[in-house]
Amino acid sequence: MENCLFCRILRGEIPSAKVYEDEFTYAFRDINPMAAVHCLVIPKTHVDSLNGLDGLTDRQLAACLHACREVARLEGVDKSGYRVVSNCGDDACQSVHHLHFHVLGGQKMHEAMA
Ligand code: 5GP
Ligand code: ZN
Repeated sequence: MENCLFCRILRGEIPSAKVYEDEFTYAFRDINPMAAVHCLVIPKTHVDSLNGLDGLTDRQLAACLHACREVARLEGVDKSGYRVVSNCGDDACQSVHHLHFHVLGGQKMHEAMA
């Protein structure tokens, strides 16, 4: 998508701190971290949110969750624990309309974060 922020990150038009990448996904550090570890996992195919899942294959979707686990491992929080969040729509305060999964950890999580 031409003006989608995360598509622009995928194209390298906007710099990002890469954490992990595979055929279907890209993961990078959130610019405004809400926890000691805060990364975003995105599919390389643009869909707006979980409501747009029809635009992804099951393989692409599964790859997102595998990537979340891999990011947690690479960031060293897989044993200590982490949270995966995907905000969908206005009431969830979704601000970037390209499906993404927040991977949060590195500290005790209290209230809903991200
Ligand atoms: P949302 O509110 O849509 O669930 O999450 C969007 C996330 O994207 C926010 O946590 C925000 O900090 C992050 N974000 C927004 N713009 C940028 C950017 O240019 N680079 C990076 N790395 N993260 C961004
Ligand atoms: Zn996009």
